[in-house]
Amino acid sequence: KDRLDHGAALLIQKLVEAGFEAYLVGGCVRDTVLKRPIKDIDIATSALPEQVMAIFSRTVPTGLQHGTVTVVLSEGTYEVTTFRKEAEYEGFRRPSSVTYISDLNEDLKRRDFTMNAMAMDGQGEILDPFGGQEDLARGVLRCVGAARERFGEDALRMLRCIRFASTYDLQVEESTWLALLEQAPLMRHIALERVRSELARMIEGPAPARAIRLLLASRLTAHFKKQLPLPFERWLAWDDALDAVSALAGQHDRWAMLLMLLEVPADTVRTALQELTFSRADGDAVVAILALRDAVAAGVADPDPAPLERVWKLGAVRRGEAAARALLRLLRALPHTAEQRGELARFLQTAAPELVRCGADWLSEVPCFSLKQLAISGKDLAGELGLQPGPWMGALLQQLLERTALGELPNERDALLQAARAAK
Ligand code: ATP
Ligand code: MG
Repeated sequence: KDRLDHGAALLIQKLVEAGFEAYLVGGCVRDTVLKRPIKDIDIATSALPEQVMAIFSRTVPTGLQHGTVTVVLSEGTYEVTTFRKEAEYEGFRRPSSVTYISDLNEDLKRRDFTMNAMAMDGQGEILDPFGGQEDLARGVLRCVGAARERFGEDALRMLRCIRFASTYDLQVEESTWLALLEQAPLMRHIALERVRSELARMIEGPAPARAIRLLLASRLTAHFKKQLPLPFERWLAWDDALDAVSALAGQHDRWAMLLMLLEVPADTVRTALQELTFSRADGDAVVAILALRDAVAAGVADPDPAPLERVWKLGAVRRGEAAARALLRLLRALPHTAEQRGELARFLQTAAPELVRCGADWLSEVPCFSLKQLAISGKDLAGELGLQPGPWMGALLQQLLERTALGELPNERDALLQAARAAK
């Protein structure tokens, strides 16, 4: 028997004393069985939401349409949901209505995987009608009931399947996997926001390479909504690079590397990240890394190429120091093998090694990366040159910044003003 969270134990005890059944359910039971840290605690009960609200003094009706009440105790907050079954599923996603029921087993039956369909009572006793513990012991992820139906009811479960298999290092049981292959086209019904949140947990989790391989093998990526026209199948040609993704610590780095391997223009990536409802800040950070790579590649591919050092320093000033440092981490992590073909592979074999060698030193020679750090401002410029402030100012400042970055000008007020006068 495992020790219960103190608050959860109290909560269950109160519900039981009031004549109801109450159990821990879902992820917290699974993680207890696996001796992993527990995130949120979900409790299922035979009490109706209004009965739960009558028993506890501090409650929040967070999801009454699903029968969920949040109970606030001094030990923490707990989601308490009335036993329910889900009547019909609409649009291959959440059910259109719920029906309250009195039987725990019926409630467990609607859950997605056997490891998520276990309950624990107030004594720490585990109720496990679908063999979740045995599956976990064997390292197997299996749907509750007929997998084909379960994925047909709610297509998001297919992404959850791959997320759990990768983050918990489980083998997808054969009939579950075959059902997933069969139902993969239903992915087109799932909102890209849901897709993002699952993908983010896979890619930001402990085993992004395995997640991507499973996604490709399942062909789920081929059936994402058509607003997301990224050529995911190109990852197949970069199998060894997928392990490099796992070696990166930062989330922006991981996304940027995966998206870079798709070899689409940075603008296409920007649109795709917007469709996936990434935050503006996350999208900008990732796109800046790709845009910098594109700019460096274009610079060195020019018929009359500028020296790499120049292209790099200019690119770093235009896309930002953070993007430049991130790109160096990516290039260091990527295998520079000769197997792959294409523009990116050529870049990795030609410019990338020199960047990996010299890029960081070149960055440390750049005195400032932003107009804010430049020793003169627009106001200084307008005053010194006796001109009206206007759009010309930004362009001139940017020009001064870039010449400073290239070492043609020192970052000093007098020298910059003199250069500005000469340029104007
Ligand atoms: P984590 O919080 O780590 O993602 P979890 O198992 O707690 O894991 P939640 O999304 O919080 O996942 O859901 C809680 C429980 O609700 C699950 O354990 C599962 O029993 C059930 N559940 C969640 N989503 C679905 C779904 N799409 N279909 C069926 N059951 C689900
Ligand atoms: Mg959870």
